[in-house]
Amino acid sequence: MAEADLTIRQRIAAALKGGMLTSKDISKAVGIREKEAIDHLDHVAITVNRAGGGERFVVKPSECRSCGFVFKKRERLKTPCRCPVCRSEEITEMRFGIVER
Ligand SMILES: [Zn+2]
Repeated sequence: MAEADLTIRQRIAAALKGGMLTSKDISKAVGIREKEAIDHLDHVAITVNRAGGGERFVVKPSECRSCGFVFKKRERLKTPCRCPVCRSEEITEMRFGIVER
């Protein structure tokens, strides 16, 4: 793993401990593109949950603003673009954080 990547992930983890953030918030906080932020988030989530320490990676799922559908079972960390129930594209952004167990 490149040292620069490690630093970015450490910075992302630090930002996530301050509150629930969207991938856009993270990209701004760390100074990388949103797509890169999502790639790093995957690794941060795995690392935090696998560490088995006092911290846990948490996800607040997206919701459809039109019908209230919640994307609970989504495995990818990218906000979906369309509701499968009503086809609305008014979807709230996923939020991520690191909390104490
Ligand atoms: Zn909907």
